[in-house]
Amino acid sequence: MRALRLLPQSAMAIYAHPDDADVAAGGLLAQWANEGCAVHLVVVCDGSKGSHTPQTDPGSLREIRRVELQLAADLLGAKSVTCLDRPDGGVSNDEELRATLVGLIRQHRPEVVVGPDPTATFFGGVYVNHRDHRETGWALLDAVAPAAAMPLYFPTKGEAHQVGRLLLSGTHEPDVVVDVSGTIDTKVQAVLAHGSQLAGDAEEIRDVVYGRAEQAGRPVGAAFGEAFRSVELAF
Ligand SMILES: [Zn+2]
Repeated sequence: MRALRLLPQSAMAIYAHPDDADVAAGGLLAQWANEGCAVHLVVVCDGSKGSHTPQTDPGSLREIRRVELQLAADLLGAKSVTCLDRPDGGVSNDEELRATLVGLIRQHRPEVVVGPDPTATFFGGVYVNHRDHRETGWALLDAVAPAAAMPLYFPTKGEAHQVGRLLLSGTHEPDVVVDVSGTIDTKVQAVLAHGSQLAGDAEEIRDVVYGRAEQAGRPVGAAFGEAFRSVELAF
């Protein structure tokens, strides 16, 4: 495990659900945005099934989550937010999704793409990684390497662009930690912006975010960290 210090000029975070980027990489994205990086956020799903209450109206929840997403993205300092509006549970690594992601990558031309590691399925014997996270992860890998970089893939989707690095969260094979001590409170605020998804009050949520970030930072001596699997793409 090593500390990663990096400031790209442009970055894209591609996640499945409206709150995923904040939970997984909110400290990193806020830090980059603060320091002048153009951070583009892409959310594949509309969040319409994110409830344990059968009486919840999916259409209303979708609208609530759209507002929460924009609020959180503004807190992080994201330059753009694109919601692809697939229903929750409806993500597949299909050609349509890859074409859309390739188009966005070629439009915004990020040096770094951040997103979920699709190879992580089971966590600690108590959690199965959501299908939408896994499918989004596979789709972004396929969109970045090689499709976006090669002009004969999706030739109508813009000029080819080679992403330099992938940072994958929710991974079983983290090899870098980013020190997010300067933006941990922004991350907490961004997570709290997703009021429809919170199980607990603000103090409890803050303690959970702090606790996970302390654990992630420890191997590199950071007070608060976020861990990723880093892939530097050779080209
Ligand atoms: Zn999610």
